[in-house]
Amino acid sequence: MKKKLVATVVATMMMIGTLAGCGSAATSETAGADNAGSAAKETLVVGTNAAFPPFEYVGDDGNPDGFDIALIKAIGEKIGMEVQVQDMEFDSLVSSIGNKIDVAIAGMTVTEERKNTVDFSDSYYSAVQAVIVPKGSSIATADDLKNAKIGVQLGTTGEFIADEIEGADVSAYNKAVDAVNDLNNGRVDCVIVDKNPASVFGAQFSDKVDVLEGSQFGFEQENYAIALPKGNTELADKINNALKELKSDGTYDELVSKYIGE
Ligand code: GLN
Repeated sequence: MKKKLVATVVATMMMIGTLAGCGSAATSETAGADNAGSAAKETLVVGTNAAFPPFEYVGDDGNPDGFDIALIKAIGEKIGMEVQVQDMEFDSLVSSIGNKIDVAIAGMTVTEERKNTVDFSDSYYSAVQAVIVPKGSSIATADDLKNAKIGVQLGTTGEFIADEIEGADVSAYNKAVDAVNDLNNGRVDCVIVDKNPASVFGAQFSDKVDVLEGSQFGFEQENYAIALPKGNTELADKINNALKELKSDGTYDELVSKYIGE
Protein backbone atom coordinates (compact mmCIF):
# COMPACT_ATOMS: atom_id res chain seq x y z
CA MET A 1 0.00 0.00 0.00
CA LYS A 2 2.74 2.39 1.02
CA LYS A 3 4.95 1.20 -1.85
CA LYS A 4 2.11 1.72 -4.28
CA LEU A 5 1.53 5.24 -3.01
CA VAL A 6 5.18 6.15 -3.41
CA ALA A 7 5.22 4.61 -6.89
CA THR A 8 2.21 6.71 -7.89
CA VAL A 9 3.82 9.88 -6.62
CA VAL A 10 7.07 9.04 -8.39
CA ALA A 11 5.25 8.26 -11.65
CA THR A 12 3.36 11.52 -11.36
CA MET A 13 6.53 13.47 -10.75
CA MET A 14 8.16 12.01 -13.79
CA MET A 15 5.46 13.36 -16.05
CA ILE A 16 6.14 16.74 -17.47
CA GLY A 17 3.29 19.12 -16.95
CA THR A 18 2.60 22.78 -17.23
CA LEU A 19 0.53 24.65 -14.75
CA ALA A 20 -2.50 26.64 -15.48
CA GLY A 21 -1.63 29.12 -12.76
CA CYS A 22 -3.10 32.47 -13.52
CA GLY A 23 -4.50 34.05 -10.43
CA SER A 24 -4.98 37.67 -9.68
CA ALA A 25 -3.01 39.35 -6.98
CA ALA A 26 -4.66 39.56 -3.61
CA THR A 27 -8.15 38.30 -2.85
CA SER A 28 -10.61 38.97 -5.63
CA GLU A 29 -14.22 38.28 -6.51
CA THR A 30 -15.09 35.73 -9.15
CA ALA A 31 -18.43 34.58 -10.42
CA GLY A 32 -17.78 31.42 -12.42
CA ALA A 33 -20.34 29.14 -14.05
CA ASP A 34 -20.42 27.13 -10.83
CA ASN A 35 -21.87 29.89 -8.79
CA ALA A 36 -23.74 31.81 -11.45
CA GLY A 37 -26.93 33.05 -9.95
CA SER A 38 -25.54 32.96 -6.43
CA ALA A 39 -23.39 35.57 -4.78
CA ALA A 40 -19.87 35.82 -6.18
CA LYS A 41 -17.46 33.59 -4.30
CA GLU A 42 -14.29 35.17 -3.04
CA THR A 43 -11.07 33.69 -4.41
CA LEU A 44 -8.21 32.63 -2.17
CA VAL A 45 -5.01 32.73 -4.22
CA VAL A 46 -2.71 30.09 -2.73
CA GLY A 47 1.01 29.93 -3.48
CA THR A 48 2.89 26.64 -3.45
CA ASN A 49 6.01 25.06 -4.90
CA ALA A 50 4.81 21.90 -6.65
CA ALA A 51 8.12 20.04 -6.32
CA PHE A 52 7.84 18.70 -2.80
CA PRO A 53 6.11 15.31 -2.91
CA PRO A 54 3.91 14.05 -1.33
CA PHE A 55 2.82 17.50 -0.11
CA GLU A 56 2.79 19.12 -3.55
CA TYR A 57 3.73 17.95 -7.01
CA VAL A 58 2.44 18.34 -10.56
CA GLY A 59 -0.43 15.88 -11.06
CA ASP A 60 -1.28 13.84 -14.17
CA ASP A 61 -3.46 16.65 -15.47
CA GLY A 62 -0.62 19.19 -15.21
CA ASN A 63 -2.11 20.88 -12.17
CA PRO A 64 -0.65 20.95 -8.65
CA ASP A 65 -1.77 18.03 -6.49
CA GLY A 66 -0.69 16.51 -3.18
CA PHE A 67 -1.61 16.58 0.50
CA ASP A 68 -1.27 20.34 0.93
CA ILE A 69 -3.30 21.09 -2.19
CA ALA A 70 -6.10 18.76 -1.10
CA LEU A 71 -5.99 20.24 2.41
CA ILE A 72 -6.24 23.86 1.27
CA LYS A 73 -9.08 22.97 -1.13
CA ALA A 74 -10.95 21.32 1.76
CA ILE A 75 -10.30 24.46 3.84
CA GLY A 76 -11.61 26.57 0.94
CA GLU A 77 -14.85 24.56 0.92
CA LYS A 78 -15.26 25.04 4.67
CA ILE A 79 -14.72 28.80 4.52
CA GLY A 80 -16.69 29.29 1.29
CA MET A 81 -13.80 30.52 -0.83
CA GLU A 82 -12.70 29.45 -4.30
CA VAL A 83 -9.11 28.17 -4.07
CA GLN A 84 -6.80 29.07 -6.93
CA VAL A 85 -3.32 27.50 -6.70
CA GLN A 86 -0.29 29.29 -8.06
CA ASP A 87 3.01 27.40 -8.50
CA MET A 88 6.15 29.40 -7.80
CA GLU A 89 9.63 29.05 -6.37
CA PHE A 90 9.67 28.13 -2.70
CA ASP A 91 12.06 30.95 -1.94
CA SER A 92 9.57 33.59 -3.25
CA LEU A 93 6.53 32.39 -1.32
CA VAL A 94 6.94 34.36 1.90
CA SER A 95 7.64 37.67 0.16
CA SER A 96 4.70 37.15 -2.24
CA ILE A 97 2.07 36.94 0.51
CA GLY A 98 -0.15 40.01 0.40
CA ASN A 99 0.81 40.88 -3.17
CA LYS A 100 0.93 37.98 -5.68
CA ILE A 101 -0.75 35.47 -3.38
CA ASP A 102 -3.03 35.53 -0.35
CA VAL A 103 -1.55 32.60 1.57
CA ALA A 104 1.04 29.85 1.02
CA ILE A 105 0.91 26.12 1.68
CA ALA A 106 4.15 24.36 0.84
CA GLY A 107 5.27 22.02 3.62
CA MET A 108 6.49 25.24 5.14
CA THR A 109 8.12 25.05 8.55
CA VAL A 110 7.22 27.66 11.13
CA THR A 111 10.41 29.64 11.88
CA GLU A 112 11.04 32.77 13.95
CA GLU A 113 12.67 34.40 10.92
CA ARG A 114 9.61 33.85 8.69
CA LYS A 115 7.38 35.11 11.51
CA ASN A 116 8.95 38.54 11.01
CA THR A 117 7.21 38.70 7.63
CA VAL A 118 4.15 36.45 7.87
CA ASP A 119 1.80 34.88 10.39
CA PHE A 120 1.23 31.12 10.53
CA SER A 121 -1.91 29.05 10.94
CA ASP A 122 -2.00 26.29 13.54
CA SER A 123 0.46 23.59 12.59
CA TYR A 124 -0.98 20.74 10.50
CA TYR A 125 2.00 18.33 10.27
CA SER A 126 5.33 17.60 11.99
CA ALA A 127 8.45 16.54 10.19
CA VAL A 128 12.23 16.54 10.49
CA GLN A 129 15.07 16.86 8.02
CA ALA A 130 16.55 13.63 6.60
CA VAL A 131 19.88 13.00 4.89
CA ILE A 132 20.05 11.29 1.50
CA VAL A 133 23.40 9.63 0.79
CA PRO A 134 24.74 7.50 -2.08
CA LYS A 135 24.68 3.78 -1.27
CA GLY A 136 27.90 2.85 0.53
CA SER A 137 28.48 6.37 1.88
CA SER A 138 30.33 6.61 5.19
CA ILE A 139 28.13 9.52 6.37
CA ALA A 140 26.26 8.45 9.50
CA THR A 141 26.60 11.10 12.22
CA ALA A 142 26.57 14.90 12.62
CA ASP A 143 30.38 14.84 12.69
CA ASP A 144 30.48 13.26 9.24
CA LEU A 145 28.61 16.26 7.80
CA LYS A 146 31.48 18.59 8.71
CA ASN A 147 33.41 19.67 5.60
CA ALA A 148 31.00 17.69 3.39
CA LYS A 149 29.53 18.88 0.10
CA ILE A 150 25.84 19.23 0.93
CA GLY A 151 22.95 19.74 -1.52
CA VAL A 152 19.80 21.51 -0.30
CA GLN A 153 16.73 23.31 -1.64
CA LEU A 154 17.14 27.08 -1.76
CA GLY A 155 15.54 29.01 1.08
CA THR A 156 14.50 25.93 3.07
CA THR A 157 15.19 24.85 6.62
CA GLY A 158 17.48 22.17 5.13
CA GLU A 159 19.60 25.01 3.77
CA PHE A 160 19.55 26.88 7.10
CA ILE A 161 20.78 23.74 8.90
CA ALA A 162 23.48 23.03 6.31
CA ASP A 163 24.73 26.63 6.51
CA GLU A 164 25.48 26.10 10.22
CA ILE A 165 27.58 22.96 9.67
CA GLU A 166 31.29 23.57 10.14
CA GLY A 167 33.27 23.59 6.91
CA ALA A 168 30.28 22.45 4.82
CA ASP A 169 30.30 23.36 1.14
CA VAL A 170 26.59 24.01 0.54
CA SER A 171 24.97 23.99 -2.93
CA ALA A 172 21.39 25.30 -3.04
CA TYR A 173 19.02 24.26 -5.85
CA ASN A 174 15.60 25.60 -6.80
CA LYS A 175 14.17 22.07 -6.62
CA ALA A 176 15.17 19.38 -4.14
CA VAL A 177 15.16 16.79 -6.93
CA ASP A 178 17.93 18.75 -8.68
CA ALA A 179 20.05 18.34 -5.55
CA VAL A 180 19.33 14.59 -5.66
CA ASN A 181 20.34 14.50 -9.33
CA ASP A 182 23.66 16.11 -8.40
CA LEU A 183 24.06 13.54 -5.62
CA ASN A 184 23.65 10.84 -8.25
CA ASN A 185 26.21 12.62 -10.44
CA GLY A 186 28.68 12.69 -7.55
CA ARG A 187 28.71 16.52 -7.28
CA VAL A 188 27.53 16.51 -3.66
CA ASP A 189 28.11 14.01 -0.83
CA CYS A 190 24.61 14.17 0.62
CA VAL A 191 21.29 16.04 0.42
CA ILE A 192 19.44 17.46 3.42
CA VAL A 193 15.69 17.62 2.80
CA ASP A 194 12.47 17.03 4.75
CA LYS A 195 11.76 13.36 5.56
CA ASN A 196 8.68 12.78 3.37
CA PRO A 197 10.12 14.08 0.09
CA ALA A 198 13.36 12.29 1.08
CA SER A 199 11.45 8.97 1.15
CA VAL A 200 9.86 9.71 -2.22
CA PHE A 201 13.27 10.47 -3.75
CA GLY A 202 14.71 7.44 -1.94
CA ALA A 203 12.10 5.25 -3.64
CA GLN A 204 12.61 6.96 -6.99
CA PHE A 205 16.37 6.29 -6.90
CA SER A 206 16.32 3.18 -4.69
CA ASP A 207 19.20 1.56 -6.61
CA LYS A 208 21.48 4.53 -5.93
CA VAL A 209 20.69 6.14 -2.58
CA ASP A 210 19.85 5.52 1.06
CA VAL A 211 17.77 7.83 3.26
CA LEU A 212 19.08 8.38 6.80
CA GLU A 213 16.88 9.61 9.64
CA GLY A 214 17.39 13.09 11.02
CA SER A 215 17.55 11.79 14.59
CA GLN A 216 20.94 10.27 13.70
CA PHE A 217 22.20 13.81 13.14
CA GLY A 218 20.39 15.47 16.03
CA PHE A 219 17.99 17.42 13.80
CA GLU A 220 14.99 18.93 15.59
CA GLN A 221 11.31 18.46 14.88
CA GLU A 222 9.74 21.05 12.54
CA ASN A 223 6.08 22.06 12.31
CA TYR A 224 4.39 22.77 8.99
CA ALA A 225 1.76 25.51 8.81
CA ILE A 226 0.01 27.72 6.28
CA ALA A 227 1.71 31.11 5.89
CA LEU A 228 -0.75 34.00 6.20
CA PRO A 229 -0.67 37.76 5.74
CA LYS A 230 0.62 39.42 8.87
CA GLY A 231 -2.12 40.76 11.11
CA ASN A 232 -5.09 39.28 9.22
CA THR A 233 -6.61 37.59 12.25
CA GLU A 234 -10.00 37.21 10.55
CA LEU A 235 -8.53 34.98 7.83
CA ALA A 236 -6.31 33.18 10.37
CA ASP A 237 -9.34 32.37 12.57
CA LYS A 238 -11.36 31.09 9.62
CA ILE A 239 -8.51 28.85 8.45
CA ASN A 240 -7.74 27.57 11.96
CA ASN A 241 -11.42 26.77 12.59
CA ALA A 242 -11.64 24.96 9.26
CA LEU A 243 -8.50 22.96 10.14
CA LYS A 244 -10.05 21.95 13.47
CA GLU A 245 -13.26 20.84 11.75
CA LEU A 246 -11.34 18.84 9.14
CA LYS A 247 -9.46 17.09 11.94
CA SER A 248 -12.61 16.26 13.89
CA ASP A 249 -14.70 15.15 10.90
CA GLY A 250 -12.03 12.69 9.71
CA THR A 251 -11.13 14.49 6.47
CA TYR A 252 -7.62 15.28 7.68
CA ASP A 253 -6.89 11.60 8.49
CA GLU A 254 -8.27 10.55 5.11
CA LEU A 255 -5.93 12.95 3.34
CA VAL A 256 -2.96 11.75 5.42
CA SER A 257 -3.59 8.14 4.44
CA LYS A 258 -4.34 9.01 0.81
CA TYR A 259 -1.29 11.16 0.19
CA ILE A 260 1.25 10.44 2.91
CA GLY A 261 0.40 6.81 3.57
CA GLU A 262 0.66 7.00 7.35
N1 GLN B 1 9.98 22.48 5.42
C1 GLN B 1 11.02 23.13 4.67
C2 GLN B 1 10.94 24.61 4.89
O1 GLN B 1 9.96 25.12 5.32
C3 GLN B 1 10.98 22.80 3.17
C4 GLN B 1 9.74 23.19 2.46
C5 GLN B 1 9.77 22.99 0.96
O2 GLN B 1 10.81 22.80 0.36
N2 GLN B 1 8.64 23.06 0.31
O3 GLN B 1 11.86 25.33 4.65
